[in-house]
Amino acid sequence: MHNIDIDLIEMTLDVMKYAINRITHTDPVLGKPKKEEELKKIVGDTVTPKGVGGEYAFKLFRDELVKNTVPIDHPRNLAFVPAAPTRAAIMFDLVTSASSIHGAYWMEGAGAIFCENEAMRWLVSLTEMPEGAFGVFTSGGTAANLSALVTARETWRDKSPEHIGQRGLIITSIGAHSSIKSMAKVIDVDVVLVETEDVLFKAALEQKIASLSTKDRDRLFAVIGTGGTTNAGIIDDLSGIADVCEKEDLWFHIDAAYGGGALAADSVRHLFKGIERADSVTIDPHKWLFSPYDCGAVIYKQPDLAKKAHTQEGSYLEIFKDEGARGFNPSDYQIQLTRRVRGLPLWFSLAMHGTDRYKQAVERGIELAQIAGKLITEHPNLELVRAPSLSCVLYRRKGWDPEDYKEWTYKNHSAGFALVTPTKWRNGEAYETVSRFCFINPDTTEEDIKAILKTME
Ligand SMILES: *Cc1c(COP(=O)(O)O)cnc(C)c1O
Repeated sequence: MHNIDIDLIEMTLDVMKYAINRITHTDPVLGKPKKEEELKKIVGDTVTPKGVGGEYAFKLFRDELVKNTVPIDHPRNLAFVPAAPTRAAIMFDLVTSASSIHGAYWMEGAGAIFCENEAMRWLVSLTEMPEGAFGVFTSGGTAANLSALVTARETWRDKSPEHIGQRGLIITSIGAHSSIKSMAKVIDVDVVLVETEDVLFKAALEQKIASLSTKDRDRLFAVIGTGGTTNAGIIDDLSGIADVCEKEDLWFHIDAAYGGGALAADSVRHLFKGIERADSVTIDPHKWLFSPYDCGAVIYKQPDLAKKAHTQEGSYLEIFKDEGARGFNPSDYQIQLTRRVRGLPLWFSLAMHGTDRYKQAVERGIELAQIAGKLITEHPNLELVRAPSLSCVLYRRKGWDPEDYKEWTYKNHSAGFALVTPTKWRNGEAYETVSRFCFINPDTTEEDIKAILKTME
């Protein structure tokens, strides 16, 4: 293992050259997928007893396969929730891999976990949660939500022996992200939905709780509010929900996977009032805090509760808990054991640029949504579905049906021009197909937006 041959050095240089190119290139090609059979025909067998050689495999990736991917930081990729990792963070993602660091326990990962914790302190400070609140980086919002829900459920079970064996229940709204329902399945609890895709208000939550049977009220243990819905950027009435949760003794989780980055933006920070009263908060740095995939985060008001719920026991793990190895063990606070130090790229980028640059970059996303809103309003064939919220814009092309939106999406994507996908907006009982922008990349320009809108004429 210790002798490195010359071919390997050349190979490494080739790969690094590609990476440098990709990091510094400002106008990436918007790739699109071929069918699996077509790719197989081009690429052939690559995993073989003797291997096909690094040079050839890399050529296949660089010249063929990568063209079948969408670089999510493309300035005209405004679909789903895009991303725009800083060059500093991408560079440090390479360093994170090259350093072979195990991020589960302080004993092995101390220096790197220290950096993660510095970045985490900044995230926690954005929430203004009380002294003692702290968190860990996860693989994403789904894993963060799961870790928080497990902590909530275990805390509820610990409150009374009656809850042991009782199936839990949580309340959220239909604006909540799909991962909430999905993770409720994983932990086998029921979900009651407040029927609104708009702001979840205190009164609607109170009404829903009052409508529960005594049996259901007994098994209700948490409410999940959203700090920036994925579809429309809507922030729930977090203060109102906090009031209800305090009064009813319920765990309050806030899913701010997408919107959490906007805590850094002074122009919208007031919309998050109440987040400081949450028991747990999810924020995805890989969405609006310019980290490479994958990097989520979960923050707890009382990290000890998470530790109680998540610490893994095993004779082979005892040494990590020993006095001599004492320190912060990220694996004790979420569902994953072996883990990449996924907060490290964020730390480096924050250290390099300073938090003010993050503020400005997030504000730019919000500003781009306002610019798009104005252009849409002025356009004769276009109409806003609702005012832009955070960096999301929902709008309709007058006279279009769902097929038109789909065709338009495919046309722009196959042309390598833009990726903008349709969504649905719930209006009363009906769902309408509409178009949606989500801005993350501060390098997207007003010209980009105009050019996209022009393809809708
Ligand atoms: C994206 C998103 C998630 C899921 O996060 P992943 O990182 O994709 O697992 C959860 N909640 C909200 C509000 C989101 O926008």
